[in-house]
Parts: sequence; C-alpha cells; structure tokens
Amino acid sequence: MLRVTEIFRSIQGESTHAGRPCTFVRLTGCPMRCVWCDSEYTFSSGEHVSLPEVMKQVRAFGCRLVEVTGGEPLAQPEARTLIRQLCDEDFEVLIETGGYFSTEGIDDRAAIILDVKCPASGEEERNHWPNLQRLRAEQDEVKFVIASREDWDYAVSVIRRFDLESVAKAVLVSPAWGEIDLKDVAEWVAGSGLKVRMQLQLHKYIWGPEVHGV
Ligand code: SF4
Repeated sequence: MLRVTEIFRSIQGESTHAGRPCTFVRLTGCPMRCVWCDSEYTFSSGEHVSLPEVMKQVRAFGCRLVEVTGGEPLAQPEARTLIRQLCDEDFEVLIETGGYFSTEGIDDRAAIILDVKCPASGEEERNHWPNLQRLRAEQDEVKFVIASREDWDYAVSVIRRFDLESVAKAVLVSPAWGEIDLKDVAEWVAGSGLKVRMQLQLHKYIWGPEVHGV
C-alpha cells in the first residue's frame, strides 16, 4: 500500500519536460520542512491505495510521462516498487525528490529530478551529497530553488564543486514563488556563463499558486 495525496493528469510544469502531458502520483509525507514549501497539504492525511489501484489510475489517464512526487516520494519504501512497475509498463518515469533520501537502488530507467536545498530553505544541512555523485548526464536533472542572493551564490558553489554542468542532463534554477524578484534571478543566470536553465513553475502561472491537482 502507498499513502497517496492525489493522482491527476496535467502538464508538466517544471524541468526540461515542462509543457508535456503528464500524470502525477503525489505521495503523502515529507520529513523536511522547507520554509517556502508549496506542498504542505501533502505532509499528512492522504489515502492508503494499493499498488494495483495506483497503476490502474495511472493507466486510465493515458499519458506516457508519469511523475512520482510528493511530499517526498522516497520516504515510502513502496515507492521504489511503484517506480519499477511503471518502468516495466514502459511509462517514462520522473522522480521528483527533495534530496534527503538516498537515490541508490532506484530503477535505472527512471529519471531523477533532484533538489539541492539552499540556505533560505532552512534544510541545507539535510542534503544527501552522495546523490550528486550518482547523477546520470543522459537523464537526471538537478534543481535549486532560489529565494535570495545567498541561495544563488550557494547554488553556483555547489554547481562548481560537483561539476554539475557535466554530470547532469540539466541544472535548473527555480525562483521560489513570491520570495524573490524574477528579474534578479534572470540577471544572475544570464550573467553567470554557466550551463544552467532558469525555470518558472508553469502550472502556477496557468492555474494560480493555491490550486492543487493541476
Ligand atoms: S522537500 Fe519538498 S515537500 Fe518536503 S518540505 Fe521541502 S519543498 Fe516541501
């Protein structure tokens, strides 16, 4: 059984897959408490749903792309079984993880979108650094949510220290919603000379920041 907050179909709002039709499996629970978290509604409640039922609902939406997200999806051991089953059925699978749990042993066919928590999140100390050494340049992406200039400087130092421009498919710089001037982030990115990509959370611009299940 998995504890599930919601399963829905929308467009992918982030990463290099932004704009694509996607089914989202949003699992319940997260051990972190990022200051700017936009998913607090996933911290508790949710429903227990069997793996076959999750698979059935995913199939019914008819999207080739499926994202397993949260909360923190890797907080539930059964999530790894779900990921394997999705890959076995030839779904293209994305895992959106906050970077606290190890990504070791996740089905190789799934792509990982790994957050690195910056200082303004309040969770910087919980980054699991070995995850950065497991990135695969052909499919995995790294995301920095930026809420201050200090966050940007921190991101640049981590990008250089782990050579993320080479070892990841993409390095995403995502302004924290409502926390920072987008123009500032755009200028920092434009002037950085780094192989990074600024991204905006498409779904929030379309449906607004408070709407769930889209
Ligand atoms: S890891 Fe994600 S879900 Fe968990 S507190 Fe941080 S932003 Fe929220």
